[in-house]
Amino acid sequence: MGNKITLVGAGLAGSLLAVYLAKKGFEVNVYEKRSDMRKGEVERGRSINLALSTRGIFALKEIGLYEEIKKIAIPMYGRMMHPVEGELMFQRYGKDDTEYINSVSRSVLNMKLMDLAEQYENIKIHFNNRCTGMNLESGECHFTNDNTGENFSVTADTVIGTDGSASALRMEMLKLPGFNFSQTYLEHGYKELNIPPAQNGGFRMEKNALHIWPRGTFMLIALPNLDGSFTCTLFHPFKGEEGLNSLNTKEKAAEFFKKYFPDSLSLIENLEESFFTNPTGNLMTVRSGPWFYKDKVALLGDAAHAIVPFFGQGMNASFEDCTVLNQSIEKHGTDWKKVYSEYYDERKINTDAIADLALENFIEMRDKIADKRFLLNKQIEAELFKRFPDTFVPKYSMVTFYRFPYSTALQRGNIQQEILDALSEGKSSISEVDFSAGEKLVKDRLSAII
Ligand SMILES: Cc1cc2nc3c(=O)[nH]c(=O)nc-3n(C[C@H](O)[C@H](O)[C@H](O)COP(=O)(O)OP(=O)(O)OC[C@H]3O[C@@H](n4cnc5c(N)ncnc54)[C@H](O)[C@@H]3O)c2cc1C
Repeated sequence: MGNKITLVGAGLAGSLLAVYLAKKGFEVNVYEKRSDMRKGEVERGRSINLALSTRGIFALKEIGLYEEIKKIAIPMYGRMMHPVEGELMFQRYGKDDTEYINSVSRSVLNMKLMDLAEQYENIKIHFNNRCTGMNLESGECHFTNDNTGENFSVTADTVIGTDGSASALRMEMLKLPGFNFSQTYLEHGYKELNIPPAQNGGFRMEKNALHIWPRGTFMLIALPNLDGSFTCTLFHPFKGEEGLNSLNTKEKAAEFFKKYFPDSLSLIENLEESFFTNPTGNLMTVRSGPWFYKDKVALLGDAAHAIVPFFGQGMNASFEDCTVLNQSIEKHGTDWKKVYSEYYDERKINTDAIADLALENFIEMRDKIADKRFLLNKQIEAELFKRFPDTFVPKYSMVTFYRFPYSTALQRGNIQQEILDALSEGKSSISEVDFSAGEKLVKDRLSAII
Protein backbone atom coordinates (compact mmCIF):
# COMPACT_ATOMS: atom_id res chain seq x y z
CA MET A 1 0.00 0.00 0.00
CA GLY A 2 1.06 3.54 -0.64
CA ASN A 3 3.56 2.68 -3.34
CA LYS A 4 2.08 4.32 -6.42
CA ILE A 5 2.98 7.98 -6.90
CA THR A 6 1.86 10.53 -9.50
CA LEU A 7 4.24 13.41 -10.18
CA VAL A 8 2.96 16.39 -12.13
CA GLY A 9 5.79 18.08 -14.07
CA ALA A 10 9.04 16.59 -15.42
CA GLY A 11 11.06 19.80 -15.05
CA LEU A 12 14.24 19.99 -13.03
CA ALA A 13 12.71 19.13 -9.67
CA GLY A 14 10.18 16.57 -10.96
CA SER A 15 12.76 14.56 -12.89
CA LEU A 16 15.19 14.56 -9.94
CA LEU A 17 12.47 13.62 -7.45
CA ALA A 18 11.32 10.76 -9.69
CA VAL A 19 14.78 9.20 -9.34
CA TYR A 20 14.90 9.65 -5.56
CA LEU A 21 11.48 7.93 -5.34
CA ALA A 22 12.33 5.14 -7.78
CA LYS A 23 15.43 4.33 -5.74
CA LYS A 24 13.08 3.71 -2.81
CA GLY A 25 11.09 1.24 -4.93
CA PHE A 26 8.00 3.37 -5.61
CA GLU A 27 6.10 3.11 -8.86
CA VAL A 28 6.34 6.63 -10.29
CA ASN A 29 4.26 8.06 -13.13
CA VAL A 30 5.32 11.54 -14.22
CA TYR A 31 2.91 13.62 -16.33
CA GLU A 32 4.51 16.46 -18.27
CA LYS A 33 2.58 18.99 -20.35
CA ARG A 34 5.39 19.63 -22.84
CA SER A 35 6.58 17.26 -25.52
CA ASP A 36 9.80 15.34 -24.92
CA MET A 37 12.54 17.99 -25.23
CA ARG A 38 15.05 15.27 -26.13
CA LYS A 39 13.20 14.62 -29.40
CA GLY A 40 12.60 18.12 -30.68
CA GLU A 41 13.52 21.72 -30.28
CA VAL A 42 13.88 22.96 -26.75
CA GLU A 43 11.08 25.35 -25.86
CA ARG A 44 12.25 28.88 -25.13
CA GLY A 45 11.49 30.54 -21.87
CA ARG A 46 12.96 30.72 -18.36
CA SER A 47 16.74 30.87 -18.39
CA ILE A 48 19.06 29.15 -20.86
CA ASN A 49 21.72 28.43 -18.27
CA LEU A 50 21.70 28.24 -14.49
CA ALA A 51 24.16 28.50 -11.63
CA LEU A 52 24.42 25.14 -9.90
CA SER A 53 25.93 25.13 -6.41
CA THR A 54 26.46 23.00 -3.30
CA ARG A 55 22.84 22.17 -2.40
CA GLY A 56 22.01 21.14 -5.96
CA ILE A 57 25.27 19.23 -6.26
CA PHE A 58 24.51 17.34 -3.04
CA ALA A 59 21.20 16.11 -4.47
CA LEU A 60 22.78 15.19 -7.82
CA LYS A 61 25.43 13.19 -5.95
CA GLU A 62 22.74 11.36 -3.99
CA ILE A 63 21.05 10.19 -7.18
CA GLY A 64 24.41 9.38 -8.79
CA LEU A 65 24.36 11.97 -11.59
CA TYR A 66 26.89 14.55 -10.44
CA GLU A 67 29.96 13.14 -12.21
CA GLU A 68 28.11 13.38 -15.51
CA ILE A 69 26.84 16.91 -14.85
CA LYS A 70 30.34 18.01 -13.81
CA LYS A 71 31.47 17.32 -17.37
CA ILE A 72 29.00 19.86 -18.77
CA ALA A 73 29.48 22.48 -16.03
CA ILE A 74 31.69 25.57 -16.34
CA PRO A 75 33.18 26.73 -13.02
CA MET A 76 32.67 30.43 -12.28
CA TYR A 77 35.11 31.50 -9.57
CA GLY A 78 33.78 35.03 -9.10
CA ARG A 79 32.10 38.08 -10.54
CA MET A 80 33.78 40.01 -13.33
CA MET A 81 32.56 43.55 -13.08
CA HIS A 82 32.23 45.73 -16.16
CA PRO A 83 32.11 49.46 -15.34
CA VAL A 84 30.81 51.95 -17.92
CA GLU A 85 34.40 53.11 -18.32
CA GLY A 86 37.68 51.75 -17.06
CA GLU A 87 39.17 48.43 -16.02
CA LEU A 88 37.27 45.20 -15.40
CA MET A 89 37.34 44.10 -11.76
CA PHE A 90 37.23 40.51 -10.48
CA GLN A 91 35.60 39.66 -7.15
CA ARG A 92 36.15 36.10 -5.95
CA TYR A 93 33.06 34.26 -4.63
CA GLY A 94 34.76 31.94 -2.19
CA LYS A 95 37.92 31.69 -0.13
CA ASP A 96 39.96 30.20 -2.99
CA ASP A 97 39.64 28.22 -6.23
CA THR A 98 37.99 25.30 -4.46
CA GLU A 99 34.81 27.37 -4.02
CA TYR A 100 32.92 28.23 -7.20
CA ILE A 101 29.51 28.11 -8.79
CA ASN A 102 28.79 26.25 -12.03
CA SER A 103 27.17 27.43 -15.22
CA VAL A 104 25.02 24.60 -16.58
CA SER A 105 22.58 24.44 -19.48
CA ARG A 106 19.04 24.14 -18.11
CA SER A 107 17.84 21.97 -20.97
CA VAL A 108 20.85 19.61 -20.96
CA LEU A 109 20.53 19.17 -17.19
CA ASN A 110 16.80 18.46 -17.55
CA MET A 111 17.43 15.98 -20.36
CA LYS A 112 20.13 14.15 -18.41
CA LEU A 113 17.79 13.91 -15.42
CA MET A 114 15.07 12.47 -17.68
CA ASP A 115 17.53 10.01 -19.24
CA LEU A 116 18.50 8.77 -15.80
CA ALA A 117 14.85 8.61 -14.69
CA GLU A 118 13.94 6.46 -17.67
CA GLN A 119 16.67 3.96 -16.82
CA TYR A 120 14.47 2.94 -13.88
CA GLU A 121 11.78 0.42 -14.81
CA ASN A 122 9.52 1.86 -12.14
CA ILE A 123 9.46 5.38 -13.66
CA LYS A 124 7.33 6.28 -16.66
CA ILE A 125 7.25 9.82 -18.07
CA HIS A 126 4.05 10.63 -19.97
CA PHE A 127 4.66 13.65 -22.24
CA ASN A 128 2.07 16.03 -23.70
CA ASN A 129 -0.22 15.43 -20.74
CA ARG A 130 -1.33 18.59 -18.99
CA CYS A 131 -2.77 18.43 -15.50
CA THR A 132 -6.09 20.28 -15.41
CA GLY A 133 -7.04 19.69 -11.79
CA MET A 134 -7.38 17.20 -8.99
CA ASN A 135 -9.95 15.85 -6.57
CA LEU A 136 -8.10 16.55 -3.34
CA GLU A 137 -10.22 14.15 -1.28
CA SER A 138 -9.95 11.10 -3.52
CA GLY A 139 -6.48 11.86 -4.91
CA GLU A 140 -7.75 11.54 -8.48
CA CYS A 141 -5.77 13.73 -10.88
CA HIS A 142 -7.17 15.02 -14.17
CA PHE A 143 -5.23 15.43 -17.42
CA THR A 144 -5.69 16.46 -21.03
CA ASN A 145 -3.48 15.02 -23.74
CA ASP A 146 -2.56 18.03 -25.84
CA ASN A 147 -1.91 15.90 -28.95
CA THR A 148 -5.14 13.94 -29.00
CA GLY A 149 -7.40 16.20 -26.93
CA GLU A 150 -8.30 13.16 -24.78
CA ASN A 151 -9.25 13.83 -21.17
CA PHE A 152 -8.46 11.20 -18.57
CA SER A 153 -8.01 10.76 -14.83
CA VAL A 154 -5.42 8.89 -12.81
CA THR A 155 -5.52 7.65 -9.25
CA ALA A 156 -2.42 6.95 -7.21
CA ASP A 157 -1.65 6.60 -3.51
CA THR A 158 -0.34 10.14 -3.46
CA VAL A 159 0.39 13.02 -5.83
CA ILE A 160 3.31 15.47 -5.81
CA GLY A 161 3.10 18.74 -7.73
CA THR A 162 6.41 19.66 -9.36
CA ASP A 163 4.65 21.72 -11.99
CA GLY A 164 6.50 24.99 -11.55
CA SER A 165 5.57 28.53 -10.56
CA ALA A 166 2.14 28.49 -12.24
CA SER A 167 1.28 25.11 -10.67
CA ALA A 168 -2.12 23.63 -11.57
CA LEU A 169 -2.13 21.60 -8.35
CA ARG A 170 -1.48 24.72 -6.27
CA MET A 171 -4.46 26.34 -8.02
CA GLU A 172 -6.54 23.41 -6.80
CA MET A 173 -5.20 23.78 -3.25
CA LEU A 174 -6.14 27.47 -3.28
CA LYS A 175 -9.72 26.30 -2.85
CA LEU A 176 -8.87 24.80 0.55
CA PRO A 177 -9.70 26.87 3.61
CA GLY A 178 -6.45 27.73 5.39
CA PHE A 179 -4.24 27.58 2.29
CA ASN A 180 -2.16 30.75 2.08
CA PHE A 181 -0.82 32.15 -1.15
CA SER A 182 0.89 35.30 -2.34
CA GLN A 183 2.47 36.20 -5.66
CA THR A 184 4.52 39.38 -5.87
CA TYR A 185 5.95 40.66 -9.13
CA LEU A 186 9.14 42.69 -9.34
CA GLU A 187 8.96 45.95 -11.24
CA HIS A 188 11.75 44.50 -13.38
CA GLY A 189 11.51 42.13 -16.30
CA TYR A 190 14.30 40.18 -17.97
CA LYS A 191 15.47 39.65 -21.51
CA GLU A 192 18.03 37.15 -22.72
CA LEU A 193 20.59 37.97 -25.42
CA ASN A 194 23.47 36.00 -26.87
CA ILE A 195 27.22 36.56 -27.17
CA PRO A 196 28.42 34.05 -29.77
CA PRO A 197 31.75 32.18 -29.54
CA ALA A 198 34.87 33.77 -31.03
CA GLN A 199 35.76 32.75 -34.59
CA ASN A 200 38.25 30.17 -33.33
CA GLY A 201 35.50 28.72 -31.12
CA GLY A 202 36.89 30.26 -27.93
CA PHE A 203 35.29 32.63 -25.44
CA ARG A 204 35.15 36.36 -26.14
CA MET A 205 35.36 37.22 -22.42
CA GLU A 206 36.84 35.50 -19.38
CA LYS A 207 35.30 32.04 -19.39
CA ASN A 208 35.37 31.20 -15.68
CA ALA A 209 33.40 34.12 -14.30
CA LEU A 210 29.88 35.44 -14.01
CA HIS A 211 30.06 38.76 -15.86
CA ILE A 212 28.09 41.63 -14.47
CA TRP A 213 27.40 45.21 -15.54
CA PRO A 214 25.90 46.76 -12.35
CA ARG A 215 24.08 50.02 -13.07
CA GLY A 216 22.17 50.99 -9.92
CA THR A 217 18.52 50.16 -10.64
CA PHE A 218 19.30 47.65 -13.38
CA MET A 219 22.02 45.28 -14.55
CA LEU A 220 23.22 43.01 -17.30
CA ILE A 221 24.78 39.64 -16.48
CA ALA A 222 26.39 36.94 -18.64
CA LEU A 223 27.05 33.26 -17.93
CA PRO A 224 29.31 31.07 -20.11
CA ASN A 225 28.09 28.13 -22.21
CA LEU A 226 30.13 25.10 -23.28
CA ASP A 227 30.17 26.13 -26.97
CA GLY A 228 32.08 29.34 -26.20
CA SER A 229 28.99 31.55 -26.16
CA PHE A 230 27.57 33.54 -23.23
CA THR A 231 23.93 34.00 -22.37
CA CYS A 232 23.35 37.59 -21.28
CA THR A 233 20.35 38.62 -19.23
CA LEU A 234 19.23 42.21 -18.87
CA PHE A 235 17.26 42.80 -15.66
CA HIS A 236 15.52 46.12 -16.11
CA PRO A 237 12.46 48.02 -14.83
CA PHE A 238 9.45 48.01 -17.15
CA LYS A 239 8.57 51.62 -16.40
CA GLY A 240 10.48 54.89 -16.65
CA GLU A 241 11.98 57.00 -19.41
CA GLU A 242 14.53 54.34 -20.26
CA GLY A 243 12.48 51.38 -18.99
CA LEU A 244 11.76 48.24 -21.02
CA ASN A 245 8.38 49.61 -22.12
CA SER A 246 10.05 52.76 -23.49
CA LEU A 247 12.83 50.97 -25.37
CA ASN A 248 10.39 50.47 -28.20
CA THR A 249 12.54 51.09 -31.26
CA LYS A 250 15.77 49.48 -32.44
CA GLU A 251 17.50 52.85 -32.22
CA LYS A 252 16.46 53.36 -28.60
CA ALA A 253 17.59 49.87 -27.62
CA ALA A 254 20.97 50.34 -29.33
CA GLU A 255 21.40 53.78 -27.75
CA PHE A 256 20.62 52.35 -24.31
CA PHE A 257 23.26 49.63 -24.66
CA LYS A 258 25.78 52.12 -26.02
CA LYS A 259 25.24 54.41 -23.04
CA TYR A 260 25.27 51.82 -20.26
CA PHE A 261 27.01 48.69 -21.57
CA PRO A 262 29.42 50.03 -24.22
CA ASP A 263 31.80 47.07 -24.12
CA SER A 264 28.93 44.64 -24.75
CA LEU A 265 27.95 46.29 -28.05
CA SER A 266 30.57 44.60 -30.18
CA LEU A 267 29.92 41.26 -28.47
CA ILE A 268 26.13 40.76 -28.46
CA GLU A 269 24.80 39.05 -31.55
CA ASN A 270 22.21 41.03 -33.57
CA LEU A 271 21.43 43.18 -30.56
CA GLU A 272 18.80 45.31 -32.24
CA GLU A 273 16.96 42.32 -33.74
CA SER A 274 17.22 40.07 -30.72
CA PHE A 275 16.07 42.76 -28.34
CA PHE A 276 12.70 42.70 -30.06
CA THR A 277 12.39 39.06 -31.09
CA ASN A 278 13.43 37.59 -27.74
CA PRO A 279 10.64 37.41 -25.16
CA THR A 280 10.59 39.54 -22.01
CA GLY A 281 10.16 37.49 -18.84
CA ASN A 282 8.54 38.44 -15.55
CA LEU A 283 10.10 37.89 -12.15
CA MET A 284 8.06 36.98 -9.14
CA THR A 285 8.13 35.57 -5.64
CA VAL A 286 5.49 32.96 -4.81
CA ARG A 287 4.86 32.03 -1.20
CA SER A 288 2.30 29.46 -0.20
CA GLY A 289 1.44 26.98 2.49
CA PRO A 290 0.73 24.49 3.82
CA TRP A 291 2.16 22.63 0.84
CA PHE A 292 0.22 19.43 1.51
CA TYR A 293 -3.27 18.18 2.03
CA LYS A 294 -3.79 15.09 4.18
CA ASP A 295 -1.87 12.17 2.66
CA LYS A 296 -3.10 13.00 -0.85
CA VAL A 297 -0.95 15.75 -2.28
CA ALA A 298 2.18 17.86 -1.72
CA LEU A 299 3.90 20.65 -3.62
CA LEU A 300 7.63 20.86 -4.26
CA GLY A 301 10.05 23.25 -6.02
CA ASP A 302 8.75 26.38 -7.75
CA ALA A 303 5.19 25.08 -7.40
CA ALA A 304 5.53 25.72 -3.66
CA HIS A 305 7.97 28.65 -3.60
CA ALA A 306 9.17 30.47 -6.70
CA ILE A 307 11.87 33.06 -5.98
CA VAL A 308 13.67 35.76 -7.95
CA PRO A 309 16.92 34.48 -9.52
CA PHE A 310 19.46 36.82 -7.89
CA PHE A 311 21.06 34.33 -5.53
CA GLY A 312 21.05 31.59 -8.17
CA GLN A 313 19.17 29.35 -5.76
CA GLY A 314 15.72 28.52 -7.19
CA MET A 315 16.76 25.19 -8.66
CA ASN A 316 19.24 24.51 -5.87
CA ALA A 317 16.49 25.08 -3.29
CA SER A 318 14.10 22.86 -5.27
CA PHE A 319 16.72 20.09 -5.35
CA GLU A 320 17.19 20.52 -1.61
CA ASP A 321 13.40 20.07 -1.20
CA CYS A 322 13.86 16.65 -2.86
CA THR A 323 16.70 15.77 -0.46
CA VAL A 324 14.58 16.70 2.56
CA LEU A 325 11.46 14.91 1.29
CA ASN A 326 13.59 11.82 0.71
CA GLN A 327 14.88 12.00 4.30
CA SER A 328 11.34 12.33 5.58
CA ILE A 329 10.29 9.22 3.60
CA GLU A 330 13.24 7.38 5.13
CA LYS A 331 11.81 8.17 8.58
CA HIS A 332 8.10 7.73 8.00
CA GLY A 333 7.84 5.34 5.04
CA THR A 334 4.47 5.60 3.30
CA ASP A 335 2.76 7.47 6.09
CA TRP A 336 2.41 10.34 3.62
CA LYS A 337 0.71 12.71 6.02
CA LYS A 338 3.67 12.48 8.40
CA VAL A 339 6.16 12.59 5.52
CA TYR A 340 4.63 15.76 4.08
CA SER A 341 4.08 17.44 7.41
CA GLU A 342 7.72 17.04 8.47
CA TYR A 343 9.01 18.04 5.03
CA TYR A 344 6.87 21.18 5.08
CA ASP A 345 7.88 22.16 8.61
CA GLU A 346 11.54 21.89 7.73
CA ARG A 347 11.39 23.58 4.34
CA LYS A 348 8.87 26.39 4.74
CA ILE A 349 10.98 28.55 7.06
CA ASN A 350 14.01 28.02 4.84
CA THR A 351 12.36 28.70 1.51
CA ASP A 352 10.84 31.88 2.97
CA ALA A 353 14.38 32.86 4.00
CA ILE A 354 15.92 32.23 0.56
CA ALA A 355 13.07 34.25 -1.00
CA ASP A 356 14.12 37.21 1.17
CA LEU A 357 17.83 36.63 0.55
CA ALA A 358 17.26 36.55 -3.21
CA LEU A 359 15.42 39.87 -3.14
CA GLU A 360 18.19 41.40 -1.02
CA ASN A 361 20.88 40.11 -3.35
CA PHE A 362 19.32 41.89 -6.32
CA ILE A 363 20.12 45.21 -4.67
CA GLU A 364 23.64 44.00 -3.87
CA MET A 365 24.29 42.84 -7.45
CA ARG A 366 22.87 45.76 -9.35
CA ASP A 367 23.83 48.57 -6.99
CA LYS A 368 26.31 47.83 -4.26
CA ILE A 369 29.08 45.72 -5.73
CA ALA A 370 30.85 48.69 -7.24
CA ASP A 371 30.50 50.77 -4.06
CA LYS A 372 33.65 51.63 -2.03
CA ARG A 373 32.08 50.88 1.36
CA PHE A 374 30.76 47.56 0.04
CA LEU A 375 34.23 46.63 -1.21
CA LEU A 376 35.80 47.53 2.13
CA ASN A 377 33.16 45.45 3.92
CA LYS A 378 34.04 42.53 1.63
CA GLN A 379 37.72 42.81 2.64
CA ILE A 380 36.81 42.92 6.34
CA GLU A 381 34.47 39.98 5.83
CA ALA A 382 37.26 37.91 4.27
CA GLU A 383 39.60 38.77 7.16
CA LEU A 384 37.00 37.87 9.81
CA PHE A 385 36.31 34.58 8.01
CA LYS A 386 40.04 33.82 8.09
CA ARG A 387 40.28 34.62 11.81
CA PHE A 388 36.99 32.93 12.86
CA PRO A 389 36.32 30.26 10.20
CA ASP A 390 33.72 28.45 12.32
CA THR A 391 31.86 31.50 13.55
CA PHE A 392 31.97 34.12 10.82
CA VAL A 393 31.16 32.53 7.47
CA PRO A 394 30.24 35.08 4.77
CA LYS A 395 26.53 35.12 3.92
CA TYR A 396 27.18 34.35 0.24
CA SER A 397 29.22 31.29 1.26
CA MET A 398 26.61 30.07 3.76
CA VAL A 399 24.01 30.10 0.99
CA THR A 400 26.16 28.89 -1.87
CA PHE A 401 29.03 26.71 -0.60
CA TYR A 402 27.52 25.24 2.57
CA ARG A 403 24.27 23.50 3.41
CA PHE A 404 23.45 25.67 6.41
CA PRO A 405 19.66 26.11 6.62
CA TYR A 406 18.79 29.22 4.58
CA SER A 407 17.07 30.65 7.68
CA THR A 408 20.38 30.46 9.57
CA ALA A 409 22.18 32.16 6.68
CA LEU A 410 19.61 34.95 6.76
CA GLN A 411 19.74 35.43 10.52
CA ARG A 412 23.52 35.23 10.89
CA GLY A 413 24.04 37.17 7.67
CA ASN A 414 22.05 40.12 9.03
CA ILE A 415 24.06 40.19 12.26
CA GLN A 416 27.32 39.89 10.32
CA GLN A 417 26.27 42.82 8.15
CA GLU A 418 25.79 44.93 11.28
CA ILE A 419 29.26 43.91 12.51
CA LEU A 420 30.81 44.82 9.14
CA ASP A 421 29.01 48.17 9.07
CA ALA A 422 30.19 48.95 12.61
CA LEU A 423 33.81 48.09 11.77
CA SER A 424 33.92 49.99 8.46
CA GLU A 425 32.12 53.10 9.73
CA GLY A 426 34.26 56.15 8.86
CA LYS A 427 37.15 54.00 7.54
CA SER A 428 38.63 54.20 4.08
CA SER A 429 40.96 51.21 4.16
CA ILE A 430 41.28 47.85 5.90
CA SER A 431 44.46 48.98 7.69
CA GLU A 432 42.32 51.38 9.75
CA VAL A 433 39.94 48.67 10.96
CA ASP A 434 40.05 47.72 14.66
CA PHE A 435 40.04 43.89 14.56
CA SER A 436 40.16 43.54 18.36
CA ALA A 437 36.77 45.33 18.41
CA GLY A 438 35.83 42.96 15.58
CA GLU A 439 36.75 39.91 17.67
CA LYS A 440 34.63 41.13 20.55
CA LEU A 441 31.65 41.78 18.28
CA VAL A 442 31.95 38.33 16.69
CA LYS A 443 32.14 36.63 20.12
CA ASP A 444 29.35 38.68 21.68
CA ARG A 445 26.92 38.59 18.79
CA LEU A 446 27.51 35.33 16.97
CA SER A 447 28.87 32.71 19.34
CA ALA A 448 25.53 32.11 21.05
CA ILE A 449 23.63 31.50 17.81
CA ILE A 450 23.61 27.97 16.46
C1 LIG B 1 15.86 34.05 -15.42
C2 LIG B 1 15.99 32.94 -14.41
C3 LIG B 1 17.25 32.55 -14.00
C4 LIG B 1 17.40 31.54 -13.05
N1 LIG B 1 18.64 31.20 -12.64
C5 LIG B 1 18.81 30.26 -11.69
C6 LIG B 1 20.10 29.89 -11.24
O1 LIG B 1 21.11 30.44 -11.71
N2 LIG B 1 20.21 28.93 -10.29
C7 LIG B 1 19.13 28.32 -9.75
O2 LIG B 1 19.30 27.48 -8.85
N3 LIG B 1 17.88 28.63 -10.16
C8 LIG B 1 17.69 29.57 -11.10
N4 LIG B 1 16.43 29.89 -11.55
C9 LIG B 1 15.27 29.23 -10.91
C10 LIG B 1 14.97 27.85 -11.53
O3 LIG B 1 14.75 28.01 -12.91
C11 LIG B 1 13.74 27.25 -10.88
O4 LIG B 1 13.78 27.38 -9.50
C12 LIG B 1 13.61 25.77 -11.26
O5 LIG B 1 13.40 25.65 -12.64
C13 LIG B 1 12.46 25.12 -10.50
O6 LIG B 1 12.29 23.81 -10.95
P1 LIG B 1 10.85 23.15 -10.96
O7 LIG B 1 11.04 21.78 -11.49
O8 LIG B 1 10.20 23.35 -9.64
O9 LIG B 1 10.00 24.01 -12.00
P2 LIG B 1 10.18 24.07 -13.58
O10 LIG B 1 11.59 23.98 -13.96
O11 LIG B 1 9.40 25.26 -14.02
O12 LIG B 1 9.45 22.75 -14.11
C14 LIG B 1 8.06 22.61 -14.06
C15 LIG B 1 7.64 21.55 -15.07
O13 LIG B 1 6.24 21.30 -14.93
C16 LIG B 1 5.63 21.30 -16.23
N5 LIG B 1 4.24 21.72 -16.04
C17 LIG B 1 3.78 22.95 -15.72
N6 LIG B 1 2.45 22.95 -15.61
C18 LIG B 1 2.04 21.67 -15.85
C19 LIG B 1 0.77 21.04 -15.88
N7 LIG B 1 -0.35 21.71 -15.65
N8 LIG B 1 0.73 19.72 -16.16
C20 LIG B 1 1.87 19.00 -16.41
N9 LIG B 1 3.10 19.57 -16.40
C21 LIG B 1 3.18 20.89 -16.11
C22 LIG B 1 6.47 22.29 -17.02
O14 LIG B 1 6.32 22.08 -18.40
C23 LIG B 1 7.87 21.98 -16.52
O15 LIG B 1 8.47 20.93 -17.22
C24 LIG B 1 16.24 30.89 -12.51
C25 LIG B 1 14.98 31.28 -12.93
C26 LIG B 1 14.84 32.29 -13.87
C27 LIG B 1 13.46 32.69 -14.31
